[in-house]
Amino acid sequence: MLVSPGIDAAIAGVFGLLFGSFLNVVIYRLPKMLERQWAGECAELSGKQAEPAEPFNLMTPRSRCGKCGHGIRWFENIPVLSYLALRGKCSACSARISPRYPVVELATGALFWFCAARWGASLEAAAWCGFSAAILALALIDWDTTLLPDDITLPLLWAGLIAAALRFTSVPLPTALWGAVAGYMSLWLIYQAFKLLTGKEGMGYGDFKLFAALGAWFGWQALVPIILMASVIGAVIGIAMKFSSGLREGGYVPFGPFLAGAGLTAMVFGPAAILQAVGL
Ligand SMILES: [Zn+2]
Repeated sequence: MLVSPGIDAAIAGVFGLLFGSFLNVVIYRLPKMLERQWAGECAELSGKQAEPAEPFNLMTPRSRCGKCGHGIRWFENIPVLSYLALRGKCSACSARISPRYPVVELATGALFWFCAARWGASLEAAAWCGFSAAILALALIDWDTTLLPDDITLPLLWAGLIAAALRFTSVPLPTALWGAVAGYMSLWLIYQAFKLLTGKEGMGYGDFKLFAALGAWFGWQALVPIILMASVIGAVIGIAMKFSSGLREGGYVPFGPFLAGAGLTAMVFGPAAILQAVGL
């Protein structure tokens, strides 16, 4: 406890709002950074001189309006408040700003608040804040691009094992380790069987790594409830999108956001509650 439990949680919530603002940058830029990197590597392999490009990373260039290029000033970049003050429009050209930005900030704030309220001002709470932020970024990046970058899934997996070793989670280290192994192997086997039977790829390797990470954070026993919840909600939303013709080209619904959602549910309610909810 730093001040009082209520104030500690409020401070964590405000920090979450700010961190959510950074997550918006990660969600938007990381896939583009990877594409640039891959394009550069392809050019190099085919013997072409890679064209020198403007630096593009999480820090530079500074955020701009996607329509008119107006540089976002610091007071236009205050989580949630700036969006409300600007009424969701660019101050220069009045182009609409996606409401997803303040929603991501609010969601991160709420998750950080929850972690501090649940675990107090502790390293344990900090570990779960990190988990929530990584999961949120993965869900949205996968939804947007159908990518689950190794730059997030692999550190998340390692962090789960380290958190178990340091007792930041209630999972004994062997349970976390076998959770990671079983998480990866189970989806890999399903993927291979599905490919053998249908000739199609139903998932990607990113899904195996994300599921392995969830196994590390919650232990192998939690894998069944997590995959059940992700599959049921994924199927319901997939079918709903089919009927509302909201499906993107190729009719592909990424699985990562549903795994991520089940992971957050497991954090908030505990894996056992998911089994109860699906009637097992
Ligand atoms: Zn603008």
